[in-house]
Amino acid sequence: MINAKEKMNWADMADKALSDVIPGREDALAILESNDDELLAVLDAAFRVRLHYHGREVRVHVLRNAKSGMCRENCAFCSQAIGSYSGVNRYTLQSVEQLVEGAREAHDRQAVKYCMVTATRGPSDKELDVICEAVERIKNDIPIEICTSLGLLNDEQAVRLARAGVHRFNHNLETSREYYPKVCQTHTYDDRVATIRAAKKAGMEVCCGGIIGMGESLQDRVDLAFALRDLEAESIPVNFMDPRPGTPLEDVPRLAPSECLKALAMFRLVNPQSEIRVAGGREVNLRHMQPLALYPANSIFTEGYLTTTGQGYERDMEMIKEAGFVVAELTPA
Ligand code: SF4
Repeated sequence: MINAKEKMNWADMADKALSDVIPGREDALAILESNDDELLAVLDAAFRVRLHYHGREVRVHVLRNAKSGMCRENCAFCSQAIGSYSGVNRYTLQSVEQLVEGAREAHDRQAVKYCMVTATRGPSDKELDVICEAVERIKNDIPIEICTSLGLLNDEQAVRLARAGVHRFNHNLETSREYYPKVCQTHTYDDRVATIRAAKKAGMEVCCGGIIGMGESLQDRVDLAFALRDLEAESIPVNFMDPRPGTPLEDVPRLAPSECLKALAMFRLVNPQSEIRVAGGREVNLRHMQPLALYPANSIFTEGYLTTTGQGYERDMEMIKEAGFVVAELTPA
């Protein structure tokens, strides 16, 4: 007897996505449920779509942990929540000079995007002053696009950032609406959606993704991918759970590499034109299969993920080159 899942025509799914007919929710779920024997066919479908919209370019981003370890929210995965016992560095917002220097280093690393991140519920007025001054200085001196990730924003704060020159604002949904209350209780999924809408309304692009492997179902992953499509997220970071000691999710097992690859393929096929970034947890979850992530994804972080280190810039560059991809350059505005 042929299992229904074995009847999926992955090439047909790619053809449709190339004509802007994205998979339905059932087909998206079928990608995640597919047999490992079909992994290369699934990746090939995602790669055709990636190639069409993004070529062989890999967009490199660098994160800056601008304020660390003092957040009063309670996201269960996060080592920067003040209630965790993770031992991460704790410091208040870095100076304008430090933030500008970070942008210079990111530019030296061929990054197209420099993302300043603060561990916080949302920015204070003083913090916004510092961030906006840093953004203005970076824009004057360094050819790099600027992203900020500062927690929850209201409309006025979003307008200030956009006016200062922030190109993109990051705020992840993290998971599905249904699963979100299991991950965080100090703010809601709707708070997050409102922030993303405020950023869009102010004229910034949005970077919005989530974390795979927090105990959510495959359906939750599909729901997240479709929610991001509805929000028209220009950039989707797909993180893979790297359980941090001292957090409520410290005992969650890591994912199998094939599960990560199927998730990336599903996000690509549901969001063909978005920048899909294989984000935190890349090395520890994908392990030897890591280069295959570049087939569905067209973006990476290099030089680590705020509180964890990656494999390093040199190895990232080698991986991109040896897999036959090229580092994207900044397109002049
Ligand atoms: S709001 Fe951000 S920094 Fe704070 S606990 Fe949640 S994920 Fe961590």
